[in-house]
Amino acid sequence: MPEPIEMETAFQVLPEVEELRLRVRKIVRRDLAPFSREIEETDSIPGEVAGIVRDSGLHGLQVPVGYGGMGLGMLAACVITEEIAWLSQALVRFVGGDALGISILGSELLCEKYLGRIASGELLAAFALTEREAGSDALSIQCRARRDGDRYLLTGEKVMVTCGDIAGLVLVFAVTDPDAGGGVTAFVVENTFPGFEVVRAEPKMGLRGVHTAHLAFHDCPVPAENILDEEGNGFVVAMRLLDLGRIRYNGAASVGNSQRLLEMSVHHARERKQFGKRIGNFEGVGFMLARMAVQTHAARLMVYNVAARADRMEPVTLESAMVKLFATEALDGVADMAVQVHGGQGYLKDLEVERFYRDARAGRIWDGTSEIQQLIIARTILDG
Ligand SMILES: Cc1cc2nc3c(=O)[nH]c(=O)nc-3n(C[C@H](O)[C@H](O)[C@H](O)COP(=O)(O)OP(=O)(O)OC[C@H]3O[C@@H](n4cnc5c(N)ncnc54)[C@H](O)[C@@H]3O)c2cc1C
Repeated sequence: MPEPIEMETAFQVLPEVEELRLRVRKIVRRDLAPFSREIEETDSIPGEVAGIVRDSGLHGLQVPVGYGGMGLGMLAACVITEEIAWLSQALVRFVGGDALGISILGSELLCEKYLGRIASGELLAAFALTEREAGSDALSIQCRARRDGDRYLLTGEKVMVTCGDIAGLVLVFAVTDPDAGGGVTAFVVENTFPGFEVVRAEPKMGLRGVHTAHLAFHDCPVPAENILDEEGNGFVVAMRLLDLGRIRYNGAASVGNSQRLLEMSVHHARERKQFGKRIGNFEGVGFMLARMAVQTHAARLMVYNVAARADRMEPVTLESAMVKLFATEALDGVADMAVQVHGGQGYLKDLEVERFYRDARAGRIWDGTSEIQQLIIARTILDG
């Protein structure tokens, strides 16, 4: 296995978080890494992997301690997420869920009802905003929820829902007040509610093991108490969760992927000889390694900076869009250079470089495309 390449930053985490990081590193590299090929071949998370993750407590990373989680802040969660992403995006998304939405915006009742079960791994959570005709333009969603006594009846479809077919809970965004210009509301929907349908698992270019599903709701009854935050405030909820998600699921996860690709490439450049020399000594290869290291380090610094700001409850919309844009595009470039450094072997399935290369491509699309991040950045710096 390639040697770890440590690049120090000025950010510090508590000793117990550092201890957790080393524990997670061991679990990921010793216990979970052997399953990578199986995840790729079966396009799913094997039961043994689910068991190891559950026993490690990682599902509760950001669930408050009072509900059985680890209660980590954003910086600490990012440090741990990097370790998980060293192996794969599939694992990051499996571990992740969207507990954060309920932890920070849920009523006491919702927290009591669900957080313990999320932390224990009994319930995975998913986030369902995108529809076939409403992607970047999220405000044009057509999913509807009409009031019926003390519940709402949910009707419509959602596509490309990460973990949608394996999640016990899905945060569904629906229009509750179409006559008043379409107030959007966020509902916590259990997959056992009548009328909840998994239409199909959606096949993808890469990201095998990241369950991606098309869901439908047919007059699906959702108790009014399952509204996250307030009726009509769903769009604000979605944007807030995307702001925070971009730091961890895109920023930190991309850094972890880039780090792995850098380590594999340095190892290969040390070992592989051509023209009687190790290839790393050729300037063309060495310069690629240098650029990979700089991109990874710069993305990490941006992630830690905005994560520290999130922990201080400062506004993060601008910087999380910057991190999402930079870290995912950096990863794309790093993955491309990693294939190049490995030559033909980088293109073969024997090594995992080609998997990272395919997986990286989604980074510029999911959770808001690169173009949408640039819109957010441009609007914020122009108009404040
Ligand atoms: C693997 C994967 C997992 C996903 N998981 C989830 C999930 O869990 N939950 C969820 O809700 N969604 C999920 N998505 C959906 C994802 O968030 C959307 O794909 C993304 O927001 C883009 O929407 P779209 O696909 O409809 O593309 P479109 O919005 O149709 O965009 C097409 C192109 O037009 C560009 N474009 C659109 N509007 C503008 C504009 N105003 N200015 C400039 N360019 C523009 C886009 O940048 C893009 O290049 C997932 C997607 C993928 C690929």
